[in-house]
Amino acid sequence: MRKKAFKAESKRLLDLMINSIYTHREIFLREIISNASDAIDKLCYLSLTDDKVGLSRDDFQITLTLDKDNGTLTVSDNGIGMSDTELENNLGVIANSGSLKFRQELDEAAQSETDIIGQFGVGFYSAFMVADHITVVTKKYGEEQAWRWESSGVDGYTVEPCEKDTVGTDVIMHIKADGEEKDEFSRYLREYTIRELVKKYSDYIRFPIRMRMPHSVKKEGTPDDKPEYETVYELETLNSMVPLWQRKKSEVSKEEYDKFYQERFGEFAPPQSVITVSAEGAVTYKALLFIPSKMPGFYGTDEFQPGLQLYSSGVMIMDKCADLLTEPFNFVRGVVESPDLSLNISRELLQHDRQLKIICSNLEKKIKAELERMLRDEREEYEKFYRNFGRQLKISAINEYGARKEQLQDLLLFYSSSEKKLVTLGEYADRMKPDQKYIYYVPGDNVDAIDRMPQTELLKDHEMEILYFTDRPDEFVADMFRTYRDKPFRSAVDGDLELPGEEKKEETGDYQEDFAFIKETLGDKVTEVKASTRLKTHPVCLSSGQGITFEMEKYFTAVQPDLGMKAQRILEINVDHPAFVTLRTTRITDPEKAKKYAQILYNQALLIAGLPIDDPSGYTDLLCSLWK
Ligand code: ADP
Repeated sequence: MRKKAFKAESKRLLDLMINSIYTHREIFLREIISNASDAIDKLCYLSLTDDKVGLSRDDFQITLTLDKDNGTLTVSDNGIGMSDTELENNLGVIANSGSLKFRQELDEAAQSETDIIGQFGVGFYSAFMVADHITVVTKKYGEEQAWRWESSGVDGYTVEPCEKDTVGTDVIMHIKADGEEKDEFSRYLREYTIRELVKKYSDYIRFPIRMRMPHSVKKEGTPDDKPEYETVYELETLNSMVPLWQRKKSEVSKEEYDKFYQERFGEFAPPQSVITVSAEGAVTYKALLFIPSKMPGFYGTDEFQPGLQLYSSGVMIMDKCADLLTEPFNFVRGVVESPDLSLNISRELLQHDRQLKIICSNLEKKIKAELERMLRDEREEYEKFYRNFGRQLKISAINEYGARKEQLQDLLLFYSSSEKKLVTLGEYADRMKPDQKYIYYVPGDNVDAIDRMPQTELLKDHEMEILYFTDRPDEFVADMFRTYRDKPFRSAVDGDLELPGEEKKEETGDYQEDFAFIKETLGDKVTEVKASTRLKTHPVCLSSGQGITFEMEKYFTAVQPDLGMKAQRILEINVDHPAFVTLRTTRITDPEKAKKYAQILYNQALLIAGLPIDDPSGYTDLLCSLWK
């Protein structure tokens, strides 16, 4: 029998498959099984209108057979089968199939070929990644003659008539011998590996995938105290067929969702929240999403890969489709299935896929709605969520110049001085006094430290609620948002607090000479010395005026010390404080001593702001020198 050559393009693809160094060779099984499932789909569809098919929905199945002696794995289906011309057209050339698209993609991305395999359907030829010889025995529905197609790879294939009783196709793959290569091929001849692969990639194929599985049972007649065991094989269905996301939420128990989440995503804890979506219209899809109760591994690092599992007609096409999630909600895990997406679609194409974009934006709305619901109805749960992922929301709110402000502003929480708990900006705004101009906040390391800051005293005296910004991004959020419900944010440590009924102290007393004296003493260390409007019992504080704040300075010093980012230092003085009153009189009687007082006040202000003092031992000496 004459061997026929593969068409040139098939040859190249085959070559690639045979010599593939790709580590995800195991996806070949997914490909062969999904072909079998498609073939069954076709016959199943015919059977609806054609009584002669003689099979009902329940009769269709895919059978996997391992022949360890001969080293073969066979995938059999009782689907539509192929005629000899179809065999030629389908397996001899890359027809108008996924493989063709794959080829085109490959040309475009010649350099990264190994990267694209496995991202999408690569079709029948992928079997050559694990098999050195493939036999396809097939009988088409409605035809008498069966056909055998055989190939050992690039040098061609043969097609000849053969015997086969039933309609359908057997794909017999002779598995390669183990070699030096990374992949151990013999594992594809083990029942447990095959079962695992079916579970992983084809669990939700809508027809049963069956295989004889070994079980160890006690040999009959052997005594209980000296039992002997033997291995018996039983036909088992490996796949669960009806995916959880295809079922109504009301029909699935919490335990089922929890178990699914834990098994599928390898999580120990159950999810915090489950979101189900069933959409019909512009795009038909179902989604099952989970908000994790713990941060996923690597979350917040470059190694973390966000994305949802993407299925099309029961077949997983991508494990982590990042294009389905937007930045603020990149921690969400789950599955999306849409029959509208082709299995044979590459990652590059997906990015431009209009349907994918529609799904992504719908999912974003659903996730947001679920978070709003939690915030409204399950506050504690929301706070738990927020501890894990609040920072992601804030960072997303800052990114892209605050483009997501509207979307995210009502999901953010900040600690409130008066409520002593986390509050939303909306709650703050609702409580604002009629004459209150600003949303006041204070940045600092933690709640206790901020609570003790002198700058908060006067605001508290006026019963003004203050938001404590203890997380680094908080200040940047206020900076980016500028306002919430038209009320500007104002840092209690900078600028005028403009408290209702407070007159400006600078204008009421004449301290200019004292301030000039202090400024002269401190030199460049401070940009300005002025009377404070925010101090009550403490003598001094620092404010930073325009530009970066002290918290930002601390942040930049920690992450990019070379930049030398420094906030301005404005020394604010409580002119009613005895320390300042003493300095004033000492300036006249003993200017040298007054200079020491000025230095001490400045250093105290640094300490209060949590900033390092320039010369700690000099400062100690200075203090001690006054004890004489
Ligand atoms: P794709 O599945 O993307 O079309 P493949 O290379 O996997 O590409 O398969 C090529 C064609 O071969 C299929 O479109 C189908 O017509 C045919 N085929 C493959 N496997 C089977 C099967 N088990 N039964 C019937 N036809 C099959």
